[in-house]
Amino acid sequence: MKSQNFIKLNFPSKSVNEGFARATVAAFCTQLDPTVEQINDIKTAVSEAVTNCIVHGYRDTFGIVYITATITDSTVTIKIADKGIGIEDVSRAMQPMFTTDPHGERAGIGFAVMQSFMDSVKVKSTPGKGTRVVMTKKIKSREQNVITA
Ligand code: ATP
Ligand code: MG
Repeated sequence: MKSQNFIKLNFPSKSVNEGFARATVAAFCTQLDPTVEQINDIKTAVSEAVTNCIVHGYRDTFGIVYITATITDSTVTIKIADKGIGIEDVSRAMQPMFTTDPHGERAGIGFAVMQSFMDSVKVKSTPGKGTRVVMTKKIKSREQNVITA
């Protein structure tokens, strides 16, 4: 039988909550006995997705950011969603260097970072309704890490 466990976090889209979300998801994942590198990968990916909800999804407003993290056997699945403005063209938005930031402060690499640090990243978005990012990462046991290193 599959072993399953989950947490849910909902919070207002204030940037002060980004660190809380990142640390909480990382703390939940420690039950898989990840390496420091794996935990840092998860923290970075969560940080990018939550920041996108705050700065893009709820660009001129505030709303709720919805996170669910589920552990199934040794894989963590993290869903991060907003009910903000949504994305017109998801595949274009996911291309490295693409950004709609009008101030020139953003590099447009958030999705690329998520893809490089997680095993899979899926984005579903409806303009005017919101965006949902689903990321997975398999955490190998330390013994497996040693063998495959
Ligand atoms: P960076 O992450 O490097 O600071 P960025 O946020 O612009 O820059 P990505 O994270 O790759 O880059 O996102 C690319 C684009 O996708 C954004 O500029 C924005 O237009 C759109 N986008 C991403 N997430 C959301 C979201 N939750 N809601 C609405 N639009 C989004
Ligand atoms: Mg971003």
